[in-house]
Amino acid sequence: MKKKAVVVFSGGQDSTTCLIHALPLYDEVHCITFDYGQRHRAEIEVAQQLAKQLGATVHKVLDASLLNELAISSLTRDNIPVPTVNSSGESLPSTFVPGRNILFLTLASIYAYQVKAETVITGVCETDFSGYPDCRDEFVKALNKAVELGMEYRLRLETPLMWLNKSETWALADHHHQLSLVREQTLTCYNGVIGSGCANCDACNLRSRGLNEYLGNKAEVMNSLRSKMNLQ
Ligand SMILES: [Zn+2]
Repeated sequence: MKKKAVVVFSGGQDSTTCLIHALPLYDEVHCITFDYGQRHRAEIEVAQQLAKQLGATVHKVLDASLLNELAISSLTRDNIPVPTVNSSGESLPSTFVPGRNILFLTLASIYAYQVKAETVITGVCETDFSGYPDCRDEFVKALNKAVELGMEYRLRLETPLMWLNKSETWALADHHHQLSLVREQTLTCYNGVIGSGCANCDACNLRSRGLNEYLGNKAEVMNSLRSKMNLQ
């Protein structure tokens, strides 16, 4: 039986690195991209181009615009933004979309069931964006249990980047000899600038800080990555 994985794929640094990491491990890798009216249409095009270029078996773009509808209607109803507070007492980042990963990972799991894939891979991680509650390991494990129970289907939600910092994520791309592709062709910038980005937004800061850290300490970061992930 063929080994199949589904990668939740946005065309950003993290999910592209997940795809690169998964490709040699599975017979088939299906990418799934959610269109929920992202501010930058370029995201979908970048995802399409990268999935094709890297050799994903299938790339599926799914309409998830209902997520947007819900967000808009709840704002319209209340009219006053409700301040959200996480467990550490700090506000959630304004980029947090409630329920996004619950929805995306559930849809990806349904897709995995249909194509008989054993694994769903997502690039969420606790290390850099601990403000997002649905990027936490505890959440992913709980959802994994729920989808297995709900579909009566053996499925693993895999999070290869969960305990890596950004510099180690860069090292992982380099381990697979794809550092320049991830550097030049992925899109993580909140202002929609491909590659090194706008240099101003939070996503760009995090990305370039991690890259500089990696480039300045290659051997050390690579060693730390290899021991964390048991890479040769
Ligand atoms: Zn930016």
